[in-house]
Amino acid sequence: MDEDSVYYVDVLLPLHLPGTYTYRVPREMTATVQTGVRVVVQFGQKRIYSALVRRVHTQAPQWKSKYIMGVLDTEPVVTERQMVFWEWMARYYMCSTGDVMAMALPAGLKLQSESTVMISPDFDGDLSSLSRYELMVVNLLTEHPSMKLTDLSRAIGVQKIMPLMRTMIEREIVVLEEELRERFVPKRSPYVKLSGHKPLDAILDELERKKRTAQVKVLMQFLQMSNMGHDAVAKRMLPQGSALQTLIKNGVFVIEERVESRLRDYSDGELTDPDSIVLNEEQQAAYHCVNSSMSECVNRDAPATNTSTNSHINTFLLHGVTSSGKTEVYIKLIAEVVAQGRQALFLLPEIALTAQIINRLRKYFGDKVGVYHSRFSMSQRAEVWQRTMNGQYQVLLGARSALFLPFKELSLIIVDEEHDASYKQYEPAPLYNARDSAIYLARLWDARVVIGSATPSIESYYNAMSGKYGYVAIRQRYGGFKLPELKCIDMRETRKNGQLRGHFSTYLLEQIRNALAEGKQVILFQNRRGFSLRLECNDCHTVPQCVHCDVSLVYHKATNSLRCHYCGYSIPVPSECPQCHSTHLQMVGIGTERIEEDLQIMFPDARVARMDLDSTLQKNQYMELLNDFQNRRIDILVGTQMVTKGLDFEHVSVVGIVNADNLITFPSFRSYERAFQQMTQVSGRAGRHADGGRVVIQTYCPEHIVIQDVLNSDYEALYEEQIQERRVFRYPPFYKLIGITLKHRDAELLNRAADWMAVQLRGAFGGRVMGPEYPLISRIRALYLKCITIRFERTEAIADAKQLMLRIADDLQKQEGFSGIMVAFDVDPY
Ligand code: ADP
Ligand code: ZN
Ligand code: ZN
Repeated sequence: MDEDSVYYVDVLLPLHLPGTYTYRVPREMTATVQTGVRVVVQFGQKRIYSALVRRVHTQAPQWKSKYIMGVLDTEPVVTERQMVFWEWMARYYMCSTGDVMAMALPAGLKLQSESTVMISPDFDGDLSSLSRYELMVVNLLTEHPSMKLTDLSRAIGVQKIMPLMRTMIEREIVVLEEELRERFVPKRSPYVKLSGHKPLDAILDELERKKRTAQVKVLMQFLQMSNMGHDAVAKRMLPQGSALQTLIKNGVFVIEERVESRLRDYSDGELTDPDSIVLNEEQQAAYHCVNSSMSECVNRDAPATNTSTNSHINTFLLHGVTSSGKTEVYIKLIAEVVAQGRQALFLLPEIALTAQIINRLRKYFGDKVGVYHSRFSMSQRAEVWQRTMNGQYQVLLGARSALFLPFKELSLIIVDEEHDASYKQYEPAPLYNARDSAIYLARLWDARVVIGSATPSIESYYNAMSGKYGYVAIRQRYGGFKLPELKCIDMRETRKNGQLRGHFSTYLLEQIRNALAEGKQVILFQNRRGFSLRLECNDCHTVPQCVHCDVSLVYHKATNSLRCHYCGYSIPVPSECPQCHSTHLQMVGIGTERIEEDLQIMFPDARVARMDLDSTLQKNQYMELLNDFQNRRIDILVGTQMVTKGLDFEHVSVVGIVNADNLITFPSFRSYERAFQQMTQVSGRAGRHADGGRVVIQTYCPEHIVIQDVLNSDYEALYEEQIQERRVFRYPPFYKLIGITLKHRDAELLNRAADWMAVQLRGAFGGRVMGPEYPLISRIRALYLKCITIRFERTEAIADAKQLMLRIADDLQKQEGFSGIMVAFDVDPY
């Protein structure tokens, strides 16, 4: 840098603000500022933030600018390409770059004067290693468990608190409160190990002599699992009978409480060479197509509807039936990238799904695999961040947020289960779709993308058919296993013929009974949680409603309460009707809780468990349930859509869809597509490693076209029906939708604001504007909602239109009385 020039930096702040802000760089800091490092700036009256340098330059701004107060990093913590990605995302999803930054950066990189810190639970308490100021901070935090940075700075008389905090956070002496709140508490559970009070063979001899066969059996199992007694084994892994108790009582085993690792189960043993995977013919063809990007492979199966055959294809849709070995194809593709010293990103729709994939990836790529969760601790996240940036991790696995890692040399992105709605973020802004964003990110890197699914989204399939994406299909299950046999049960008939037991047809019950008798496992899918869906007065038909939301309350038996699924509001179950005081209250509709209970009564010997939002509130409960199911400690798993997703269980032979109808009747242009996907996906959990998988679909309208498509495993038919509808009724992929939601406590004010906005929008976009109207649920958390939707033709360039919409929203808030109206944009709503 030129010694004599005056330097400025444009910085990004993690706030809902447009654009960048310019600060002046004091001479002594010119050598250390560069794009991507954090600097300390004052913003607003008093607040101090760590901001990110977007650009260093010498153009003096029009206004006098403040000086930056310090430079926090010696090396960039964010790359240029990341910032370009953020800026694209902000433009595309109609929010500010600061919104994206706030979401993309791990908490540890977002210091501000209002941040609150506490002593880290990981701090080892070694005071001798602390500097003078660090010691002062620790002492203060011992007295006041949490303090704001501004207050700390004042108390210890150090102005430059941020650099001090940066190192203290890195050394895990302190932790941000925000961080601590989201971190999950390590789970302790009992482990069994040998007490060593007698030699093992002596114990075995004695037990044999006394013919304690049950105890011998437990001991042998323990030895097998514990590396011949060298390690401890989780107590719940052993048969929970009296034999185990006796072994503990007699001092053969001792119990010890251990913290269970969150990432347990991955072996750090020998790596397997990915070359040892032998792809079958279809898998090989798919692999070859993607790997060569060759145009003649592209659209091999697709009807020649479109043009771009010769262009270089970067995005591929891998359409493989459930259990066709898509993951094995991904692994082969990743192996190639790893061998070239580059990076691959593997996205999944849910964190919980990562557990199985981690093991599969680590088997081949060992410690080159990095896992990134938004729920990891700050130090873990910072570590993954760092190792991604320096290229140490070559395979990055995660849900949506892994898109934001600082890649060094990204050359492949896998988006598994691409159809899954969880790829769309609902709150807060940006409301981005991670699949679509991945495709843009790949373009920035000139990387390849493979989006995979057994039930592709209509949009992706359309893109493949029209030649925009490459298309490869795998139509057979690996190993030649048959797809499960699907059977539809007409519940009207069942009822008429007296073959209904509660909510189950005798046919489904028989299938469950058979499966259990053969030692197999069962999955039951019910898309509603709670016990019964509502409580209704028999006399006046009043249904208790949430006081904050426009929905009825759901009965939860476990807590004996009525609860709102939108805001969490909850009341004890009333004994009489709030309206007419009648005591004839009846329960209507069933949820997962009820199914679990009924099954347990009908199959008293079976181990029944439930997986839904209520049973998995704590982060690792989800993983534990799946783990237990995988290890056959659960016979029947009842769950919401959580159980439908891409899991590979070996012993599931029966899948039951308890009520297919409430999947289909959901009012959205995507509801048939989604119903098909959910039913097909959950069916795909059956019979993955053996023939004879069975799926039972209970419905009151068996002739429904979606049910028929599912029964015939006919994705193409579903697609043809849907694409016609979308064309006729002007939905994606032919039209692009932008949803605008206005919110306010005051319904009347909201109505006026929405009308005002609609008039402005119509002035600009004419007949493309629909609404305003109340959404399906017109009030959530005491805020009334009103929606306006705008649709553009696929081919229209809409960057300017988005700008104009943002301006109209700005203008709205400048109108008399409307300043408190909240406006949220949702581009490509789901
Ligand atoms: P999908 O992701 O398409 O649902 P998976 O990749 O989970 O399917 O494959 C289903 C099962 O078949 C897995 O247990 C997997 O290990 C096995 N499998 C698939 N392809 C191969 C292969 N080429 N070699 C060995 N095992 C395979
Ligand atoms: Zn009543
Ligand atoms: Zn509510």
